[in-house]
Amino acid sequence: MIGGGAAGFMAAITAAEQGIRRVRVLEATAEPLSKVRMSGGGRCNVTHACWDPRELVGHYPRGQRPLRGPFSRFASGDAVAWFAERGLVLVEEADGRMFPEANRSSAVVACLRQAARDQGVVLSTGAFVTSLKKDRINGFQAECRGGELIQANRVLLATGGHPSGRRLAAELGHRVIAPVPSLFTLALDAPQLVGCAGIALDDVRLDLEVGEARFRQVGRVLITHWGLSGPATLRLTAFAARALQSSRYRATLQVSWVGSVTQEQLLVELRDQRIQSARRTLAASRPLAGQLPRRLWLSMLDGAGVALDQRWSDLPGRLEQRLLQQLHRCRYTVKGRGPFGEEFVTAGGVDLGEIDLARMESRCCPGLHVAGELLDVDGVTGGFNFQHCWTSGWLAGQAAALALTGSDQTR
Ligand SMILES: Cc1cc2nc3c(=O)[nH]c(=O)nc-3n(C[C@H](O)[C@H](O)[C@H](O)COP(=O)(O)OP(=O)(O)OC[C@H]3O[C@@H](n4cnc5c(N)ncnc54)[C@H](O)[C@@H]3O)c2cc1C
Repeated sequence: MIGGGAAGFMAAITAAEQGIRRVRVLEATAEPLSKVRMSGGGRCNVTHACWDPRELVGHYPRGQRPLRGPFSRFASGDAVAWFAERGLVLVEEADGRMFPEANRSSAVVACLRQAARDQGVVLSTGAFVTSLKKDRINGFQAECRGGELIQANRVLLATGGHPSGRRLAAELGHRVIAPVPSLFTLALDAPQLVGCAGIALDDVRLDLEVGEARFRQVGRVLITHWGLSGPATLRLTAFAARALQSSRYRATLQVSWVGSVTQEQLLVELRDQRIQSARRTLAASRPLAGQLPRRLWLSMLDGAGVALDQRWSDLPGRLEQRLLQQLHRCRYTVKGRGPFGEEFVTAGGVDLGEIDLARMESRCCPGLHVAGELLDVDGVTGGFNFQHCWTSGWLAGQAAALALTGSDQTR
């Protein structure tokens, strides 16, 4: 196994549990599973409580359709059971994300390392693979920096987003789709939002126009001092990752701060304010008070050019229209990419069309398996990226073991 991350460990443990005696993990750094350790803010969002494979695939901007087959064999429920069988209980949070009961990513690292040890998996750290070749007589030969040569009948490439893995795959004949960042926040040209930094709001509708392409998400956003973050923003940028990269991160974002409230309902709310709060100022009394934070409302007044001491009874119709626009379809220019969310992944990697996804095995180079982030698959935030690693690692481990023990009837 080349790469000691989530996918590499899952594949190594699975192959060893299926009876393969000599499973070796070659890890470039001194510390395997380092991304698992740093993930989820140190808590590791292991998977998501989404049990239906047909629904699960909807969380993968790249890999959606092709993942149906793999998830029908090993999905979130299987991952939860797999970890429980090895002593790691996962608990679900209100939004469906699943974390270890101990609430520490080190518990996940410890579980995977213990399971690998129990099965006699050999872990070599500081083993950076610089070349991988295959010939008919000797099978695969990997060369590590420093010159060590390793022979193997089967190899799994699970090098995550590291460029060396993409190069090794390309040298064995694979088409590699150029990586682009996914799951980032948006930097907006929106000076009126600066004073709203720190406000988190549910049920916000985001409509992104990137050239001819359109993307929509509805959900929770966080206003930051550079623009927008939060789960809905990250989902939006994940689905729009390629279009945004092509447009050099220039786009237009239309925001409805009152998500599911229609324009007609909003107009009724504004008219109600005119009657019920006629003598009060717009700064003092706002519509949808339970939903719309005061700081945001004040910035909407600013954006619409409404004076803070304007009384509801005297609000001119044209200002009412402007307010409606601010609340329901406020347009912002996207200036670029903001900082990455907690979870950073790349979109792109080994083309799925060249992989037998039932076995995670290369069609160009039989005996070579590919799993995890190195593949052209990425999920939105919420535990979906690790789920893909567990699934692809498990399938690769099973397939490699079946092929090596000779019990594979499909070969
Ligand atoms: C800060 C952060 C937080 C995240 N949080 C979450 C989360 O909570 N939930 C979630 O689902 N996803 C999360 N992700 C995404 C998730 O970490 C990745 O999708 C996942 O780690 C990919 O696993 P992998 O095994 O494919 O690759 P990696 O975890 O990157 O492992 C690849 C391993 O291969 C090694 N390697 C690379 N090249 C070579 C080589 N040539 N020779 C030998 N070894 C090599 C690397 O050193 C590395 O250890 C997070 C990502 C980041 C950056």
